[in-house]
Amino acid sequence: MRPIIGANWKMNGGGIEGLGYLDTLKRERVENEPVDIVLFPPFTLLPVLAESAREAGISLGGQNIYWKESGAYTGEISSSMLKEAGCSWVIIGHSERRHILHEDNEIIRLKLETSLRSDLKVILCVGELLRDREQDQAEDVVKAQIQHALDGLKEANPTNMVIAYEPVWAIGTGRNATPEEANRMHGLVRCWISDIMGENDANKIRIQYGGSVKPGNAPELLAQEQVNGALVGGASLDANQFIQIIRAIPK
Ligand code: PEP
Repeated sequence: MRPIIGANWKMNGGGIEGLGYLDTLKRERVENEPVDIVLFPPFTLLPVLAESAREAGISLGGQNIYWKESGAYTGEISSSMLKEAGCSWVIIGHSERRHILHEDNEIIRLKLETSLRSDLKVILCVGELLRDREQDQAEDVVKAQIQHALDGLKEANPTNMVIAYEPVWAIGTGRNATPEEANRMHGLVRCWISDIMGENDANKIRIQYGGSVKPGNAPELLAQEQVNGALVGGASLDANQFIQIIRAIPK
């Protein structure tokens, strides 16, 4: 399975910086690495970066989407708008959208269904809070997130969907899940997907780890059998760190 590494810039970055970043990735010929690379900049940078990303061999994605195609939804963005801006991917269910912007499992299901129907590929983020983990609820929370999001989607094309397991206590905290913990939860995620979509499709879905991935911990995390890539926040803002993470993929 070809690994996938995503750079989630969140609400950071500007046009000049973004173009410089892509120049670095082009110069380092990251397109020759055996990995799919997707950049998720803020919406306003998508058209600015589209051509340069194409030249660098990198796909672009939106950090969010709304499930309606047009209308009176101030501040939202539709699938056709994302595609027109150069996106082939979208992130759905990121913990910051779940916990700061209060998106629930049903909103996430609607977004997932809309994106796949619109031929956007999706990174669906799941992950437990520290409180869930301390109460021994981590597996139940992640299982419920998967089951709700995939409800009614058993016919979806598994190659258009990536799951990012991102324990919330590890995001932006400098504290990552151990490689063994990540591998174990990824294995469970694959079993829960298999219950819904069947084993064959579940085996085609890539499961990324996200949560304080850095050049120092990437080799061990990415070497795990069930870890098919990474979704990177903070460390992806620096082109050189991001390149080191891309190159940590086992060859
Ligand atoms: C993320 O935002 O998806 C993420 C994993 O962030 P960080 O790498 O900064 O923990």
